[in-house]
Amino acid sequence: MRIQDANRSSIRLAGNLAIIGVLAASLSSSSGQAGGASVAGGAPEKIEGYKDTPMLPGGKWHMHDPDRPQPAVVTPGAAFSQGAPPPSDAEMLFDGKDLSKWQTERGGEAAWNVQDGYVEIVHNGGIRTKGKWADFQLHLEFSEPTVTTGHGQARGNSGVLIGNLYEVQIVDSYQDKTYADGQAGALYGQVPPLVNPAKPPGEWQTYDIIWNSPRWNEKGELTQKASVTVLFNGVVVQDKSEYIGSTDGIGGQGFRQAPVYKPHPPEVFIELQDHNGNKVHFRNIWVRDLHLAERS
Ligand code: MG
Repeated sequence: MRIQDANRSSIRLAGNLAIIGVLAASLSSSSGQAGGASVAGGAPEKIEGYKDTPMLPGGKWHMHDPDRPQPAVVTPGAAFSQGAPPPSDAEMLFDGKDLSKWQTERGGEAAWNVQDGYVEIVHNGGIRTKGKWADFQLHLEFSEPTVTTGHGQARGNSGVLIGNLYEVQIVDSYQDKTYADGQAGALYGQVPPLVNPAKPPGEWQTYDIIWNSPRWNEKGELTQKASVTVLFNGVVVQDKSEYIGSTDGIGGQGFRQAPVYKPHPPEVFIELQDHNGNKVHFRNIWVRDLHLAERS
């Protein structure tokens, strides 16, 4: 397990004391209500989150704010890009057979369980690509554990950690709520998904991600924020959304600490997060380099 993962886990565990409320046992009601809103026929629904965190730009919501409105639930189409073969100029990162394009944080052999055409997370740290890209199109498929004991951030948590600095959250958001900026498809801790098109646990789901790395000039001044477009099960959940800074809880950025940018090369690896060993499955992962810098 990576050190930052350990820190994040332990901090989150300790932070549970600060969690405001607990999830209602039944989450069958429709989404789209703010945390604390009344559930028909029942007590106000409590959603995990924090109010003692920094305010995000705009001054309306705290980071991980339980009161930030829940994205509306959308039922996705049956398949969209599920099973999409890679275009001719794509690099296949995982075809269901081996992890030779992946490595551990320290450059060791990626040792997650490959079986039956997919890979299952093993609680031995995230795995990251050997390759790096500045601006890319990424396709990946994942499915959430069908056996789970947790809720919210403890339910099928993983993530696409771009450069281990910017997370597109993966978590089981099907009929299970957490703070809006921590749901599946969120720029974790910063930008909730526009809507919630999550499928049930055990079903394959797709992320199609278009990523633009941040840029700095020679003086070290930020000239372009990191931005990302995300299609989740074929539904746009992020539309050129900009990161406020690097994601809290990964890459040395403390959990619940305000996002900041620190200069780095635009070329970044793609990492799949091991979050406390939640056994998320992945398959059909491929990437296309957009070569934007060469075109400008
Ligand atoms: Mg995560």
